[in-house]
Amino acid sequence: MTEEVAKRLEALNKKLQNFLDNPWIMRTKPFHVVGDVYFVGNNYVSSFLIASEEGLILIDTAFAESAYLLFDGIRALGFNPADIRCLFLSHGHFDHCGAARLIHEYSGCEIFLGKEDHMFFTERPDLILFENHVPRFTIHRAYDYDKPMDFGNVVITPVHTPGHTPGTTSFFIETRHGGKIVICAMHGGLGLNGLSKDELRDNRLPESLQQEYLDSLLALQKKKVDVVLASHAHQYNMLERAALDDGSGEVFLDKENGWYKMLDKNIESIREMM
Ligand SMILES: [Zn+2]
Repeated sequence: MTEEVAKRLEALNKKLQNFLDNPWIMRTKPFHVVGDVYFVGNNYVSSFLIASEEGLILIDTAFAESAYLLFDGIRALGFNPADIRCLFLSHGHFDHCGAARLIHEYSGCEIFLGKEDHMFFTERPDLILFENHVPRFTIHRAYDYDKPMDFGNVVITPVHTPGHTPGTTSFFIETRHGGKIVICAMHGGLGLNGLSKDELRDNRLPESLQQEYLDSLLALQKKKVDVVLASHAHQYNMLERAALDDGSGEVFLDKENGWYKMLDKNIESIREMM
């Protein structure tokens, strides 16, 4: 591992350990985004709640340690966490799936995770990162990629976007907002951490993940997107946008090609890395 990568990883690990030790410092107010989509995450990692006619759907749980913030946020918006029917996980890292076991025990929800990340919970728990902080849970389903899942008022299409992890999954959510259907998109793992040749070798993952990451971003560029949902709020300044929202959700409509710019930036970075 190069010195630069080691330094970057050390800083990230320090920050994450601080969150695990002091989860309340991540607290942020939950808010309505557009249509039937709500933000119930914290200021580091996002969780989205989707109020479908067939029950609540949660995308990502954040950390086990911050589960109380998640439950609190869902209730603050007038929903009951016991009504969660499906938990969609974007990938198998601890900051996105840490509270999966707790959510399942509380609600009885079905847990979905991309097939290629299932190995994190069998032969490769080292890839979960901070694995001791993830109470073991049962994965009930893998995604059927590119097949729209119809929940009545909401349609969700999972798309395989490997790279950040082999099973990273992105979501395209069709919801009705302001009298028309809008498409919200959440990339399941944009982070380039773990994708350098050194890190891939250290983690015993194939170097081809770099190419898969690039290819998946290029494919996503062809999608039509109205609203960007960031899996880490800062990737699209979601908290700053929420502060400016007048209740219409206008601030979340992607009028400045933010989706494409976000992908472009990472396409450039991965090409540099390759
Ligand atoms: Zn991750």
